[in-house]
Amino acid sequence: MSKVVKFGGSSLASAEQFKKVGEIIRADSTRRYVIPSAPGKRFDGDTKVTDMLYACYGLAQQEKDFARALMEIAARYQEIIDGLGLELDLSGEFRVIEDNFRDKAGENYAASRGEYLNGRIMAAYLGFAFVDAAEVILFDEQGNFDAERTNEVLGRRLETCEYAVIPGFYGSMPDGSVKTFSRGGSDVTGSIVARAAMVDVYENWTDVSGFLVADPRIIEDPKKIETITYRELRELSYMGAMVLHEDAIFPVRREGIPINIRNTNAPEDDGTWIVGSTCQKSEYVITGIAGKKGFCSINIEKDMMNAEIGFGRKVLQAFEENGISFEHVPSGIDTMTVFAHQDEFMHKEQKVVAGIHRLAKPDFIDIESDLALIAVVGRGMKSTRGTAGRIFSALAHVNVNVKMIDQGSSELNIIIGVANEDFEAAIKAIYDIFVVTRI
Ligand code: ASP
Repeated sequence: MSKVVKFGGSSLASAEQFKKVGEIIRADSTRRYVIPSAPGKRFDGDTKVTDMLYACYGLAQQEKDFARALMEIAARYQEIIDGLGLELDLSGEFRVIEDNFRDKAGENYAASRGEYLNGRIMAAYLGFAFVDAAEVILFDEQGNFDAERTNEVLGRRLETCEYAVIPGFYGSMPDGSVKTFSRGGSDVTGSIVARAAMVDVYENWTDVSGFLVADPRIIEDPKKIETITYRELRELSYMGAMVLHEDAIFPVRREGIPINIRNTNAPEDDGTWIVGSTCQKSEYVITGIAGKKGFCSINIEKDMMNAEIGFGRKVLQAFEENGISFEHVPSGIDTMTVFAHQDEFMHKEQKVVAGIHRLAKPDFIDIESDLALIAVVGRGMKSTRGTAGRIFSALAHVNVNVKMIDQGSSELNIIIGVANEDFEAAIKAIYDIFVVTRI
């Protein structure tokens, strides 16, 4: 049995948090590979070290004095080192960083130092080997992550270390320059290491005890999701439920390694398990509810549309020509509706409409704005009759008008369109019917 453990920024923001992490790792000798993020916020209003690094490098780029900003970053690390009573001296590292900033080593390099230095501290604190991610996480010439080469190089390297710390968030280009993943990318590193080391579990430690059935800003104290499949998670995160970086799913998914989301501040909680497939039923038919505001719908009508081959393609071509991606396309016999993000669509509205007229020659086009989409997701829906009925009667009960319904053929989700102003009421009503009253 072996595990990869990734710790997020809030779990490593201070010496006090580091100590909790140390206890978690020492409590289980199968926790062999540790992926640290950079120190995050210690309190509300604090600044993440990654953001401090971006700002500091911004000064260097503008040829402004960045020494003070770099000293503040060094102080953040020194506070951790002192709090842990370590002998470690990072002044040599900071001299190198200063020189490289002066030589304009790049924004990616700058941001990556947050994880790099935290990795150095973590390795010293745990007595584990330090493996620089730049040597084992590899990108190709185009800057795309090179999954297969990384898996080979990293796998071979890890065979030589029983216990190791590998900093998250970055790797290197073929020319040796540092490249980072997008923000929150340490989650991705954890998943890549889990695959290469062929571990049994990827534990992702953060500051919440797993995924919640609904957004806590809308539902007070929502229930936690015990087990969720990768596919369900994808549906929910597409709709804005974010705890894990989207790309973190792929490397472990292909190997069937489960991810366990855990809380550093409550290590006794089981957290949420993200798995390939499961026969564990969720307690409530639905697994989760998520949604987003700010969509608009473009409703296109044309007599005998159903008989016209290629009509849909022509309509979507007008969107493509204007660089707008569509989100959903529910259709009727002589109608077709395209949902798009309002902020993307707004500026190009008339161009798209003209494009549809030119390409598809519809009878009528109508646009509606300020819409929200809500996804009700659950693997249990497939085997349960009446799920849709329950959703719609709950919405009718609270006077929410449903503008669109889209059920994927996988029966994994039902997507509902409502007015922006009905968004919160709709989520509350759905949560209530499935989780609270369970009628
Ligand atoms: N430190 C980076 C960020 O703030 C990466 C991470 O934490 O995963 O985005």
